[in-house]
Amino acid sequence: MLKFPFHTNGREGKCNGEDSPSFARERNRMVDEQVAARGIADPRVLDAMRRVPRHLFVEEALQSRAYGDHPLPIGEGQTISQPFIVALTCQALALNGAERVLEIGTGSGYQTAILAELAEKVYSIERLNSLASAARARLDRLGYHDVACRISDGSLGWSSEAPFDGIAVAASAPEIPPPLKDQVGEGGRLVLPVGDPEDQVLLRVTRTGDLYESVTLSPCVFVRLVGRHGWTSGD
Ligand code: SAH
Repeated sequence: MLKFPFHTNGREGKCNGEDSPSFARERNRMVDEQVAARGIADPRVLDAMRRVPRHLFVEEALQSRAYGDHPLPIGEGQTISQPFIVALTCQALALNGAERVLEIGTGSGYQTAILAELAEKVYSIERLNSLASAARARLDRLGYHDVACRISDGSLGWSSEAPFDGIAVAASAPEIPPPLKDQVGEGGRLVLPVGDPEDQVLLRVTRTGDLYESVTLSPCVFVRLVGRHGWTSGD
């Protein structure tokens, strides 16, 4: 496939990656049909998803399926989340560009890039070395040098950088990991899947002092959060 440098986002966004007109068309169709048509209305989220070249976050053999309405494998038994779920998560964080955001489960780095378009500073934790280093390389190639990445158990959060205005978790736990509740700041939002390995709900939890108000956003199925406050293994 012919690829060439193509600046997708003019002056607006942070992304500066290789693209092609046909992938850009597919991406706009993805946003129109899978995201906007299902009720995601935050214009900043829609714009970010039109900019970030999702096909560059999967291996070349899967690029033709990158804009489909599904997750895709990224190695190590993990997946890049379905576009709609990324959009729902990011919209629920209600970001205006000034926030510090923690992401648990860097995976391919796709949602990390979307968050970097939407927030001031993104911190992202991945437990698997191979995925973390591939994501770091991709983020650097696309110009997201300012994202802070770390390899560790994200169920413990990133206490030295807390509090966060938003925390997004891309792997499911049996219940909300207590460190993440502690590390979300006053008025902050925590968006995460909670439930059984095969059947979860995506929750948005908003903190007001010691009160945590929880809203169910959608049924969902994520891979497992493996760690101290998650599951003991991935299968
Ligand atoms: N947002 C990612 C989704 C990756 S899937 C994307 O768009 O590509 C979830 C990721 O969470 C996997 O890469 C998995 O290895 C990681 N993960 C699971 N448990 C974790 C933990 N305790 N800490 C950090 N990452 C974890």
